[in-house]
Amino acid sequence: MTLSQSLVSIACFLAVSTTMAQDKVLNIYSARHYPTDEALYSDFTKATGIKINRVDADDAGILARLKAEGAASPADVILLVDAARLWRAEIDGLFLPVKSKVLDDAIPATLRAKPADNGGTAWFGLSTRARVVVFDKLKFKKSDFDSYEKLAAPQFKGQLCIRSGSHPYNLSLFGAMTEHLGAEKTEAWLKGMVGNMARSPKGGDTDQIKGVASGECGVAVTNTYYLARMMRSSNPADKAVAEKVGVVFPNQSSWGTHVNVAGGAVARHAKNTDNAVKFLEYLASPSAQNHFANGNNEWPVAKGVSFDNPALKAITGGSFKSELIPISAVGMNQIKVQQMLDRVGFK
Ligand code: FE
Repeated sequence: MTLSQSLVSIACFLAVSTTMAQDKVLNIYSARHYPTDEALYSDFTKATGIKINRVDADDAGILARLKAEGAASPADVILLVDAARLWRAEIDGLFLPVKSKVLDDAIPATLRAKPADNGGTAWFGLSTRARVVVFDKLKFKKSDFDSYEKLAAPQFKGQLCIRSGSHPYNLSLFGAMTEHLGAEKTEAWLKGMVGNMARSPKGGDTDQIKGVASGECGVAVTNTYYLARMMRSSNPADKAVAEKVGVVFPNQSSWGTHVNVAGGAVARHAKNTDNAVKFLEYLASPSAQNHFANGNNEWPVAKGVSFDNPALKAITGGSFKSELIPISAVGMNQIKVQQMLDRVGFK
């Protein structure tokens, strides 16, 4: 081989490896705030050789960033927590609807976006969490709060602790209630809850659970994984808090407990679309689904995935009935809900 031939072959090699390097990259914007997810990303890279670059921010921060970056955005995959946020981003045109038989087969239709005009799907629910009621076991019993409606009952004046009404977890719960009860009854229910508050809304779900354990509140609302996390904590103080509270899955004898999703989507201006779809398909695979259950105490969405999480089992007592309304409808109600919250003074 002459010197010039060698240079040509080195140049070719470099060109090929640069292309391969570009092909083996995935840029994720993630609002999942759960440290246990690290293993998910590294397992994907191990299996596919695709390197992940991740930007972590809260949901609002990610949406603002995507809008500011526009077509120049490097984002390939967006992971968001909550149906209200997913719906908002879909409406704002931040997602690229994609077709994937793997995802369509794995994820129930009620837990993903409605089909887009091109037949693709804008976002997919990847794990679920229930919004449940926790109560002071010394003061109350399960049957006191076996429906969300009872949180507004006058006999519980001064007992209720709940995070801000405008937080997406609550916007989605209230949006679901609007589907079940209609707007008028939902607004009366929200007003009743404001009248029952032990304190003005503050803090996250974990703070509400702690409020019940300390006696400041008699009853509170939380996502299941916050309670499961405390039950499984290595910190005895967390375990003690979890032991003081009882838990109810409301509306078991009517429409079922409100369930929300964390989900994923391909970004509107994704450059690595194939890798993005591959990643979402990976998140719907049994091993990743199992991780959602065991790592962050969520429920898998994929059909037929078995998992073993003692805290989730203890909380539910085995299984529970969840509501069946399409999660996309819940997101759509959020503007209406925000107006109701303003009218009844739910901060
Ligand atoms: Fe959360």
